[in-house]
Amino acid sequence: MNYSDQEIQVCDICGKPGVKVKFVSRSYGQGINLLVIEKVPVVSCPHCGESYLTAETLHGIERIKLQRDFFAVERPVPVAEFAGRTRLGLPTSDH
Ligand SMILES: [Zn+2]
Repeated sequence: MNYSDQEIQVCDICGKPGVKVKFVSRSYGQGINLLVIEKVPVVSCPHCGESYLTAETLHGIERIKLQRDFFAVERPVPVAEFAGRTRLGLPTSDH
């Protein structure tokens, strides 16, 4: 995919030009189905403050998820659970 024309993109939300594209890592699923996709282009607009994925990006993610065995590279990745077993000091309500 080619994002070299990102400077002339206009915001899908407010229609103004000058949106920025930043590349982030996103994760989908969990456990053995966890899939991390790096360099997902997220469009952020300095005018209205929205940040979103384009339809093209969403299609690309769906394609990667459907063909994850083809796209994915096995890498040992440390995964941290937010508010996992420690429950952040909350009273335990375990049965
Ligand atoms: Zn905008």
